[in-house]
Amino acid sequence: MEKRYQAVRGTYDLLPAAARKLAAFLKLVTGRLEQAGFQELETPVLEEARLFNRSVGPDSDLVTKEMYTFQDRKGRLLALRPEGTAPLVRAYLEHDFTYHAPQARFYYLGPMFRYDRPQEGRYRQFLQLGGELFGVAGVQAESETLDLLNRVFNLAGLPEFRFEVNSLGCRACQEEYGRRLSEFIEPRAGGLCPDCLRRSKQNPLRVLDCKVDACRKILGQAPVVGGFLCPACREHHRLFLECLRLLEVPFLENPRLVRGLDYYTRSVFEVTLAGGGNALAAGGRYDNLVEELGGPATPAFGFAIGLERLMSVLPEPPAGRAGLRILYLEAAHLPEALRLVRRFREALPVEWPVTVAPEARSLKSQLRQAARDGCRMVAVLGPEELARGEILWRDLESGRQVSLPPETMIERLKNDAQP
Ligand SMILES: [Zn+2]
Ligand SMILES: [Zn+2]
Repeated sequence: MEKRYQAVRGTYDLLPAAARKLAAFLKLVTGRLEQAGFQELETPVLEEARLFNRSVGPDSDLVTKEMYTFQDRKGRLLALRPEGTAPLVRAYLEHDFTYHAPQARFYYLGPMFRYDRPQEGRYRQFLQLGGELFGVAGVQAESETLDLLNRVFNLAGLPEFRFEVNSLGCRACQEEYGRRLSEFIEPRAGGLCPDCLRRSKQNPLRVLDCKVDACRKILGQAPVVGGFLCPACREHHRLFLECLRLLEVPFLENPRLVRGLDYYTRSVFEVTLAGGGNALAAGGRYDNLVEELGGPATPAFGFAIGLERLMSVLPEPPAGRAGLRILYLEAAHLPEALRLVRRFREALPVEWPVTVAPEARSLKSQLRQAARDGCRMVAVLGPEELARGEILWRDLESGRQVSLPPETMIERLKNDAQP
């Protein structure tokens, strides 16, 4: 026998209960983002591969090991987007926002793809909600955003969490730091993995992302970038932390926090649970990327929330409304049942589920099924009630029932009763 079909390794089906939980969070976060002036901007899943080489960096793990690339039928090298910032910057430039809305803020929601080792909460196709703020050089961008995320995570009921923050400095700071890092690495190069050896020559900062234990041990002793900040970067970071304190955003300075992408400058952050573990959200400032992708010099800051990981630690939302089910006892009454279900659906708010029984079976078995499906009320089309122009109305919780004309029921439902 043929093997059963299964979802591709590293992907998953979003099942109804998880989808409801996700939808509740998305409603909360997009509402807050819109309130704070962010507008939705969605880019395609496919981009030219060179966009990520240029932005994320040709030496990053993300580009060298994790990106899904392929040639299309015309031989163009395309990539399934591994992250959302570069495509958004591409769109920001392509649609001339630099000209008519240089300080625009955007958010996006969609799947990203990375060929990573699948593990708990980490998938090869994963869902990210991200935001980008363009054209603000000062700490307002990062301070306001972290405050907003702090508020959203609190409202969503995320258990004890914190923002780990660091400054990676400007390009000048990073060059100085890179030189010092190379000096540190050189006498220790023998202990590093081949990837790090290659990186240490091309882009020493990327050595800090290595996940190999031996490398991590050596680099745990390396100098940190914070020691090499220029006066302007030091002041920027000081002011950022001052804003966080004033806004009561729970944060922790982590001088070893580097993000595995080349474009970050100055403020970077990750959101983690107080007990540790993988980041639930992360981001940072990227003051050079817009220019590096061909636009005018434009400072920018962005964040992304990893929705699978976040969902795995958020509490369950309160249960939705239980529904109303129309039951009919004789096959001949199907047309009347369909007419009624439509009237109810039109009269009641869309949040109230109104369903019709799939077939005319015994009342007892239909009631049992309605209870199993979580219905709170049933309306029974019985021959005697129909002859009187009424239907039988039964509350499955209390067991009370009453026979009424449909109009009266609709009015009652609209006015008070929770179905
Ligand atoms: Zn600097
Ligand atoms: Zn290494």
